[in-house]
Amino acid sequence: MFELPEYLTLARQMNDTLPGKTVQRGQLGNSPHKFLWYNRSPEEFERLSQGKTVGQAQARGRWLFLPLEPGYVLVLGECGGKVLYHPPGSGAPKKYHLYITFEDGSFLTATTQMWGAMELYAQGEEQDREYIKDMRPTPADPEFTFVYWNALLDELIPEKKRSAKALLTQDQLIPGLGNAIAQDILYRARLHPRHPIDELDAGQRQALYEAIVATVRDVIAQGGRYDEYDLYGQPGGYVRLMDKKAAGHPCPECGAVVEKMSYLGGTCYFCPSCQV
Ligand SMILES: [Zn+2]
Repeated sequence: MFELPEYLTLARQMNDTLPGKTVQRGQLGNSPHKFLWYNRSPEEFERLSQGKTVGQAQARGRWLFLPLEPGYVLVLGECGGKVLYHPPGSGAPKKYHLYITFEDGSFLTATTQMWGAMELYAQGEEQDREYIKDMRPTPADPEFTFVYWNALLDELIPEKKRSAKALLTQDQLIPGLGNAIAQDILYRARLHPRHPIDELDAGQRQALYEAIVATVRDVIAQGGRYDEYDLYGQPGGYVRLMDKKAAGHPCPECGAVVEKMSYLGGTCYFCPSCQV
């Protein structure tokens, strides 16, 4: 699944490639998918997107906004899989959930894996959508300061018991993070995924904040994770420290064997010695 760095990479590459292109035909998928959210019928999507011009893309959290001007915004949310640009003359993929052909013969396709939203809104109305409306600051936003971070923890701790992994991956508390990047953040912060957030001392709060910001910055700088694809079908450059390849091998810091466990809807990889 795409996380914040992959969405920011896609938006940046879209802005290198798509603005100014005119939509010749916009089609929704040819491949049924149970957990794909559309808000338009295929006919409506085709009619509303036709003749529109692509504006500047933006990403926030796990949501990407591509203006189709005048008046509309294509929203891709919480997707995995592939969002691909195809230069003129490229072959079309067999299966897709979104297929937008431009007048210059190039096209954009999107195919998601687990789930995802592919919706078209009248400009501005997308801001009222669930998960977009009232989105908290993401780690790529200037508002995500250490002062904000401490205030967030102070707000969440009385609410209910949460672990460090729950803080990073559940309820959109830190929008844009997911199970993949959370592994490396917890490793860098030297925190066990189950560590309760109400037991973080001042040093651990600071370490976790710094790990979030530094990890997100690194993954963005390297164009996303190595197991996800960018707009041009190229894998990202960021190799995860803690993933299935690390399990059973020595921790790079201390040499203890990296363990894996199922926890909160995903596999965790962690060093039982470094992460407390
Ligand atoms: Zn270790």
